Amino acid sequence: MEKKIKDLRERAGDAIKNSASNLKELDEIRVKFLGKKGELTGLLRGMSQLTAEERPIIGKLVNEARAEIEQLIAEKNSELKAAELKEKLASEKIDVTLPGRRVHEGHLHPLTLTLNRVKEIFVSMGYTVEEGPEVETDYYNFEALNLPKDHPARDMQDSFYITEEILLRTQTSPVQARTMERHKNNEPIRMIAPGRVYRRDDYDASHSPMFTQVEGLVIDKGISFADLKGTLEDFSKKIFGEKTKIRLRPSFFPFTEPSAEVDVSCVMCHGEGCKVCQGTGWLEILGAGMVHPDVLKMSGYDPSKVSGFAFGMGIERIAMLSYGLDDMRLLYDNDVRFLKQF
Ligand SMILES: [Zn+2]
Repeated sequence: MEKKIKDLRERAGDAIKNSASNLKELDEIRVKFLGKKGELTGLLRGMSQLTAEERPIIGKLVNEARAEIEQLIAEKNSELKAAELKEKLASEKIDVTLPGRRVHEGHLHPLTLTLNRVKEIFVSMGYTVEEGPEVETDYYNFEALNLPKDHPARDMQDSFYITEEILLRTQTSPVQARTMERHKNNEPIRMIAPGRVYRRDDYDASHSPMFTQVEGLVIDKGISFADLKGTLEDFSKKIFGEKTKIRLRPSFFPFTEPSAEVDVSCVMCHGEGCKVCQGTGWLEILGAGMVHPDVLKMSGYDPSKVSGFAFGMGIERIAMLSYGLDDMRLLYDNDVRFLKQF
């Protein structure tokens, strides 16, 4: 019996030290020797055949063997756990030299890009950028611009009315009227007003019920039509290229006198004539004119002391010409395949 116990202790010790390479194998060894059906339990069962004198001696040896094996298992257990942790830390270590994952960035809409370009050009000429409400009163949208209630030119701008007196602005001109009112004693003004405007136009390839306009206004002593032409020529060259020419055709706007439509030489054919310019070599991009004396008076300016010019353009038209687009609706469809190209 003593020999069996000694042999068991040796085999158990050897198995724990040399055969257990992970926690699962260690547990299998524990079950084999100490489990309910294990070898040590088997030895205890055999004690019933021993004499009363032998039992306490053998019992002591069995308990010692059990304590020793349990001790060895506990030691091996912490050893294996430490090794496993070390391995886990090594395998899960972050490799800081790997290339990072790129965050997918969007970019500005082609209309915003065009508007920013237009703003840059005028700011570089010393203009301020003014803003105003999109929901406007009839007074600022029409009356202060020399368009009384019964004026036939109101028909050109069929509007979205909210009440009889409040509407979505049809032009950014009300910002000009508001800016003029803030200036006293014929103070000079050099401003542009960019923003969204609303008209009840049909939705087709060249019209949208909402579009983006930039209007400009210059008021000072001795401003002449030559200043207007020079400014617009300079702007056209900066936005469409140095070779661009402009021409002015007489036109009518209620708030300017005289008024002109401004054409630029075709950006596609440079005046030769093509599909885009319908064979004329010219593209209409702007409306402009000298500020009507009544408009100056209504906003507190004295037309005998100062004069000014004003102009307005659609940013969609400028964007279509600079990017070579044939349908305005592309700018509003939010089709990523289209927008990705800018
Ligand atoms: Zn052309």
